[in-house]
Amino acid sequence: MRGFDPSTTTSEDGPADCPYCGSTETEREHPKGPGLCRSIHFCRSCEQPFERFE
Ligand SMILES: [Zn+2]
Repeated sequence: MRGFDPSTTTSEDGPADCPYCGSTETEREHPKGPGLCRSIHFCRSCEQPFERFE
C-alpha cells in the first residue's frame, strides 16, 4: 500500500510537518550550517523557519 502515512514521514519523502502549526505547506531550504544531519525548512502557512534533524 503506497500513499501518505503521517506516522512514517522521512526526510526524503514529502514535505516536513511544521512544528508550530502542523502544516505540510513547507519548503526545504539549503542547510546553512556545517552539519549534514539537519535541514532548514520554511513554513509557508505561518511563515516560520524551522530545523529538522535527520
Ligand atoms: Zn507553520
